Amino acid sequence: MQIVTPGLVLREVKVGESDRILTIFTPGQGMITASAKGSLRLKSRLFSGCGLFCYSEFTLFAGRTMYQVDDAQVKRVFHGLSAGIEPMALAMYLAEIAQSLSPTGREAETGLRLLLNSLYLISEGQKDLRQIKAVYELRAVSEAGYLPQLLCCAGCNRYDGGDFYFDTDSGALLCADCAQKQDKRPNLDPAALVALRHICLVDDRKAFSFTLAPASLQRLCAVAEQYMMRCLDKPLKSMEFLKQVLP
Ligand SMILES: [Zn+2]
Repeated sequence: MQIVTPGLVLREVKVGESDRILTIFTPGQGMITASAKGSLRLKSRLFSGCGLFCYSEFTLFAGRTMYQVDDAQVKRVFHGLSAGIEPMALAMYLAEIAQSLSPTGREAETGLRLLLNSLYLISEGQKDLRQIKAVYELRAVSEAGYLPQLLCCAGCNRYDGGDFYFDTDSGALLCADCAQKQDKRPNLDPAALVALRHICLVDDRKAFSFTLAPASLQRLCAVAEQYMMRCLDKPLKSMEFLKQVLP
């Protein structure tokens, strides 16, 4: 059986002299594993389309244990990812989150779009990488079914005013007064709270469009990472390296 699908290469493992086993994120079937025979030969017609973070149109045959790549036509290459260590480290980290969540069905389509948008922004080099990281972490887990309860304080229904506490264990908000009753210190200032709601609740592409002062961005980043880690079932291998290059 043959399928033709767009897909983003999230992982490549070299096998033998010139073969690669790829993990490809597709909108219709989520993550798939495919063997790209001979794709590391410069003359191979699969060479460019099967590279890491290539977004290509794949023609695949279902084999006994995995798909075989028959053709790969490049749709998009994010050249800016290889412009430095930070962009590549962040891209690898986002790819690991995507594989860990491994969305299927409609969530695969939205998850892939979010990742493509993120890679595009990383590659362009115009936005703060920490902001892209925080947006991706929050959106990816929200779309995978872990949307936090951001409407109002879980204790008294207060919507805004002053600092808030975002409980990364439960995904609930508490105003400063209710937080104090539980011996918690607020971890969001008003601007960071607005950004948190914006990221989780607006449409796709708008999720990245906001600006925050450095102190607020730092708060947002801290809760985004903690919440994302709570939603995944195991730690991320790529996080340690990312922390070294993007502290
Ligand atoms: Zn309250």
